[in-house]
Amino acid sequence: MARVLVTGISGFIAKHVALQLLQAGHDVVGTVRDTAKRDQVRETLVRHGADHTKLSFVEADLMSDDGWEEAVAGADFIQHLASPFPLQQPSDREALVPPARDGMLRVVKAGLAAGAQRIVVTSSLAAVMYHPKHKGDFEAGPDNWTDPEWSAISAYIVSKTRAEQALWEYLDAQGERERATVINPGLVLGPALDGRAGTSLYVVEAILKAAYPALPPISFPTVDVRDLAALHVAAMDSPNTAGQRLLAAADTLTMQEIALILKDAFPAFARKIPTKELPAWLVKFMANFDKSLRSVTSDLGRRRKARTAYVTEKTGIAFRPARDAVISAAESLIEYGVVQPPD
Ligand code: NDP
Repeated sequence: MARVLVTGISGFIAKHVALQLLQAGHDVVGTVRDTAKRDQVRETLVRHGADHTKLSFVEADLMSDDGWEEAVAGADFIQHLASPFPLQQPSDREALVPPARDGMLRVVKAGLAAGAQRIVVTSSLAAVMYHPKHKGDFEAGPDNWTDPEWSAISAYIVSKTRAEQALWEYLDAQGERERATVINPGLVLGPALDGRAGTSLYVVEAILKAAYPALPPISFPTVDVRDLAALHVAAMDSPNTAGQRLLAAADTLTMQEIALILKDAFPAFARKIPTKELPAWLVKFMANFDKSLRSVTSDLGRRRKARTAYVTEKTGIAFRPARDAVISAAESLIEYGVVQPPD
């Protein structure tokens, strides 16, 4: 059994990764930047059956060197998931780069120096799919890269792209490419382990709460968090995955398709769930006045897909249909009281 560092263990995906590692018998050290979150994370993981004696915490912030040496000490493997994923995008498109890129390099440098065998870094399809040369529908593979200079993309997309580019540049300069594996997930749905699911489940939450009267014509290659966590664990010590980018997504769903799945599966919400799609031109026009819409203008009216058969071949992890991920996300939001059926 190994000792595994999970950075950002309070996050939606990281809690699933930690749970699967603990269930497999590994020792897990999680980083938090706020000590109050230790107890919340411990309580959540124990409630889902984890052995708390195998779980410990270190305080560390991506913006500071403090704590990282302690965090990586004795780690056989590192799962680096911490990175800002805000619901509202900052207007400065480079604002998230310092924690995402420089914070990641802090973890990677400390991990390599401490002798970690492999560092699994959670990047994103955001670092793969956005390039002005791709017109219309488009299927992305591991050789595709987002253009971080493209003015149509959000601060989050810029941060994930610059971070992953910097990772490979650093590893190549050190001759250490084989000591990392990158995972590039699409939109991550599936069940939250507690009522703190962050930005990820907001698409489902907003539809159930009827936060929009109509839906923008955008789509997401979608992956279930349980499959994604299994991929993180499988990628950790497999020779097949050393130095690779592993795209993680099942089928692609539009917001309208997500709404129709929810309407069908949750009759108590059906009356309120919006299913009308706004025309792309209207959303583009509205983005002139509403800043929050600007980050989706590059997605309007297009269906982007991810090619992932090679990932299943290398790791044995198959991605369940996106519909299951949508339904189980909604079930968990209802179970933890994040959304309630309308009166
Ligand atoms: P969450 O927001 O739930 O988790 C993010 C984690 O990063 C939290 O633990 C957060 O800590 C931590 N974090 C943020 N800023 C800092 C910082 N300055 N120092 C230390 N820790 C920090 O997001 P997800 O679980 O959804 O995402 C996890 C990873 O997966 C991220 O790298 C994200 O970019 C990537 N990803 C997510 C996708 C998704 O759809 N969810 C899709 C593709 C990639 P705190 O709790 O203190 O805020």
